[in-house]
Amino acid sequence: ARMHTVCHVGKDGLLGEVIRVRGETAILQVYEDTGGLTVGEEVVSYSRPLSAVLGPGLLSNVFDGIQRPLEKIKYATGLPFIRKGLKMPALDTDRTWHFEPLKKAGDAVEPGTILGIIHETVRIEHRVMVPFGVRGVIGEINTTGGVSGAEPVCALEDGRPIGLYNEWPVRRPRPFRSKLPPLAPFVTGQRIFDTVFPVAEGGTAVVPGGFGTGKTVVEQTIAKFARCDIVVYVGCGERGNEMTEILTDFPVMKDPESGLPLSLRTVIIVNTSNMPVAAREASVFTGITIAEYFRDMGYNVSLLADSISRWAEALREISSRLEEMPGEEGFPPYLATHLGSFYERAGRVLTLGGGTGAVTVISAVSPPGGDFSEPVTQSSMRVAGALWALDPDLANRRYFPAVDWQGSFSLYYRELSDWFKKEVSPKMPGLRSRLFSLLQREAELKEIIQIIGIEALQETDRLTLEASEMARETFLKQSAFNEIDAFNPYEKQYWMLKVIFAFIDSAAGALKRGVYVEKLLETPFRGKVVDMQNLQMEGFSKKARDLMEEIESNFASME
Ligand code: ADP
Ligand code: MG
Repeated sequence: ARMHTVCHVGKDGLLGEVIRVRGETAILQVYEDTGGLTVGEEVVSYSRPLSAVLGPGLLSNVFDGIQRPLEKIKYATGLPFIRKGLKMPALDTDRTWHFEPLKKAGDAVEPGTILGIIHETVRIEHRVMVPFGVRGVIGEINTTGGVSGAEPVCALEDGRPIGLYNEWPVRRPRPFRSKLPPLAPFVTGQRIFDTVFPVAEGGTAVVPGGFGTGKTVVEQTIAKFARCDIVVYVGCGERGNEMTEILTDFPVMKDPESGLPLSLRTVIIVNTSNMPVAAREASVFTGITIAEYFRDMGYNVSLLADSISRWAEALREISSRLEEMPGEEGFPPYLATHLGSFYERAGRVLTLGGGTGAVTVISAVSPPGGDFSEPVTQSSMRVAGALWALDPDLANRRYFPAVDWQGSFSLYYRELSDWFKKEVSPKMPGLRSRLFSLLQREAELKEIIQIIGIEALQETDRLTLEASEMARETFLKQSAFNEIDAFNPYEKQYWMLKVIFAFIDSAAGALKRGVYVEKLLETPFRGKVVDMQNLQMEGFSKKARDLMEEIESNFASME
């Protein structure tokens, strides 16, 4: 028995993993309920680490933390829970898939070479790759059109078969040729994330927030709308019905762009609170391994974890059972490195096969009592490239997404600004800076008001306050449940900013000519600006331009 070897424990064959070896003693963590287990029962070691099964059939599937197929189990046993010791293959390896070879006999192949494709769902083609460590020349490749898990897809000249399914140890990052720098933002469709605090494709974003601040809504909105090929959703079900909602929602929900069911691009991993802690601990690694597998095919993948705190708590529980020396708040001292080993697996890479793929990690953190100074939030913040800090005050005021713009950041903006200039508009970075300055000025003015009262403010400052509030309401606020506004492409984000600042500039001009602030605020245009949220995307730039013209000429004629 070596560290992280998988074992079957007792007469029920419960799945376990070696988590400590000391002299002649190995300590196992069992992934299932150990009730009824007695002294003297047999333990069988399989001399292999906890691994994920990778191959066609992952998409639309629902697994638990150790990749047991929950839907299939429910169907097979009629029980809504997993019977102890139940063994069922993660993927249905008997199924026959339609296989289109891209290589032929005589072709040299190496790890990552794409041998052919399977249309796993109407949306995603599964690229069958040569596994790690295998290279040679193809002797024979399946051209019959159909292939099942039991038969090889191809055989090398020396006779070695290559099959559809592979296993990969979940705690080991899958190899790639090299990491690539950020190139483009990961498009969520949410203005505050995409424009203000963007996360790069292949980056990491951390979403800390107390109970009810909107973490789950953020994760789910991204799962629904984000522009990526594949979504791996690792849910921990903080509330009773949360996971049920995901399981019932996803299969019926359609992608607004293609009209196809979202489940076709989604792999769901669920942990409910009645599952043993060890399975919960394994779940994020199972999830990221699956994400890396699709990355290696050349896809743009996102891994959404809700929430990483439940994972850290599992780690703490395991550590305390091992009677390890506890660190801060009872978490093991290796919490930060362990968390790092997960976040580190995000990235945009040159794959072994020579393509590019990315895994973007967006993980929620639920600090107890909303206190960000606790270890899980702190360790996550340290490795995050973007921080979307959620604020309970905003959430209480139903101000969503409740992102505290002063406590959030994006380290990617500088690297991405060329992308913004080229793909959105040369003016985009400038508009973003202007928005920041406006918000900053508002915060300063609010402090001044606290001291000397609003009456003492100059007219221009009063206009700034109003303008900033309008900008926040129009741009930063965005309902996840408004069908028109839930996903905003960059084009809409850009034009909304343009209109906001056209309003502000025109109003400032009128103020200079002596028009009273009150009069400026009475115009219907403030409402019209906010209402851009509800404009359909079709012809948006035209509508925005018209509105700008209307605003400009109206303010210009005001006396
Ligand atoms: P958390 O996961 O942080 O505990 P939730 O994501 O479940 O919080 O959000 C709590 C509630 O807040 C939701 O049920 C919803 O009513 C509201 N909410 C959160 N985010 C949004 C949003 N972007 N738009 C509209 N309502 C939201
Ligand atoms: Mg939640």
